[in-house]
Amino acid sequence: MIDNIIKPLLLEDETYTKIGRLLEQEMAKGLSKTTNPSAKVKMLPTYVRALPNGLEEGNFLALDLGGTNFRVLLISLSKESGVRMENKIYPVPEKIMTGTGKELFDHIAYCISDFIHEHNIQGQHLPLGFTFSFPCKQESLSVGRLISWTKGFSCSDVEGENVVDLLHAAIKRRNDISVECVAILNDTVGCLMSCAYLDHDAEIGVILGTGTNACYMEKLDKVELWDQDKAEPSQVVINTEWGAFGDDGCLDFIRTDYDFQIDERSLNRGRQLFEKMISGMYMGEIVRLVVVECVRTSLMFSGVLGRFKERDCFKTKYVSAVEKDHGRGSFENTKRIIEQMGIKEFTDSDCSALFRICQAVSIRAAKLSSAAIVTLMNRINRPNITVAVDGSLFRFHPRFEGVMKETIAEMYNFGHQFKLMLSEDGSGKGAALVAAVAHRLK
Ligand code: ADP
Repeated sequence: MIDNIIKPLLLEDETYTKIGRLLEQEMAKGLSKTTNPSAKVKMLPTYVRALPNGLEEGNFLALDLGGTNFRVLLISLSKESGVRMENKIYPVPEKIMTGTGKELFDHIAYCISDFIHEHNIQGQHLPLGFTFSFPCKQESLSVGRLISWTKGFSCSDVEGENVVDLLHAAIKRRNDISVECVAILNDTVGCLMSCAYLDHDAEIGVILGTGTNACYMEKLDKVELWDQDKAEPSQVVINTEWGAFGDDGCLDFIRTDYDFQIDERSLNRGRQLFEKMISGMYMGEIVRLVVVECVRTSLMFSGVLGRFKERDCFKTKYVSAVEKDHGRGSFENTKRIIEQMGIKEFTDSDCSALFRICQAVSIRAAKLSSAAIVTLMNRINRPNITVAVDGSLFRFHPRFEGVMKETIAEMYNFGHQFKLMLSEDGSGKGAALVAAVAHRLK
C-alpha cells in the first residue's frame, strides 16, 4: 500500500513541537561561547545592528551569489521614489561552481566589469553590497570567511578565506573597474532588510529556495559570542544557518530512508540535514525516491520506472505543478509531467498516488519550516511579528504558504499576531540597504 510507503513522512503535531524545542536547544548551543565551537547551528552574528528606516538614499552596486543565478545589480534608493533596480543574470557554469576559487572570483569580476561597461558607469565609484549566501563567519560588516560551501558549490581554496579579499583581488587582477565591497551579507539578511524597509515589525528573514536558512534580530546580551561594542542599538541580526540543524544526529528520529539516500549521494554528506528535508534543491528528488520505491513494489505505473530512474530528474517545480491539480479531476499537470518522465501508460490512480507523495513531502517541508519559525518567534516574543520570506519554493508552491500559516497559527502563542511577508528581490535590495547604512557610517 502507498499509505505504508508515505507513512514515515507524515509526522504528528507533537513531533513538530518537539522539533521546535530541539532547535531552541541547538540555537542556545550556537549562541554560547563554550558550546559554539561544537554547535551545528552556528548562530553567526552578522554585524547588521539596525534595520532600515526608509530614509536610505544613494546609488549602489550589488552582487547576488548563492542561488540558482548569479546577478549583478545597480540600485537607486531615494526617499521620494523608493527603490529602482536594474540587474543582469550571469550563469555560473557547473565547471566554475566546482573549480578553483580563483576561477570563480575571476568570473565574478568579469561579470561586474561587463555590467559596469554595459551601463556606462565606469566613471562612478559605487559602494557594493555582496549577498553571498553561504555560511560565513563575519569579523566585520565587510569581512566574512566562508565556513563551508553548500548547495552544489565546492570551489577550492575559498573555505576559511575572507571572501571580500578574494573579490577585491580578482577586481585588481582585471584592473579595469573601481569597485569597493563595503558589506557582505547573507540572503536571509537581504530578505529581512528589504521587508523591514516597508514594515517595521519585520524581525525575521527566511529563505525557502534552493536551500533554507533564517536570520532574526537578537538582543546583544543573549549573544555571548559578541565581543564588539555594546552601544545602542544593543541588538544584532543573527544568521542562524538552520540548514545544518540535525547534523549532530538530533533529527535522525524523523529522517526516512529517502532522506538518508539524498544525503549519501550529496556533495556535502552529513551536512545540512534540515535543509535536505525542506528545500527546493532536494524536495523533487525525495519525491522521485518515494516513487521509485512504489514502482519497485509495483504500486505505481505497472512497475515501469521510465525517467524516474534518473537522479534529479523530477524537479521541485513539478511537485508544485502536481499539487496544483488538487489530486482529483482531470489531473492536467500531473499527466503532462508523468508523460515527460517517459511513462506512456498510467491510470488516474497513478496520478492520485503521485499527488499524495508530493503532498506528503511538501507538507512535511512546510511544517518543519513553520516549527523552526515559531522557535524564532518565541525567542523574539513580541505581540506583532512580521516574517519576511523569500525563495521560489515559498513563492510558487500552491500550498506551502497556506500550510505554514495554519501551522504557525496552531503552534504560536495564543494572542500574538504574525504576518508572512513575501520579500521582493531581497538579495538585491537588501544588499543595497546594508551598503547604504555601512556607507553612511563610514
Ligand atoms: P535561490 O537559488 O536564490 O534560492 P530561488 O528562490 O529561485 O533561488 O529557488 C530556486 C529553487 O526553487 C530551486 O531549487 C527550484 O527547484 C525551486 N523552484 C523553482 N520553481 C519552483 C516552483 N514552481 N515550485 C517549487 N519550487 C520551485
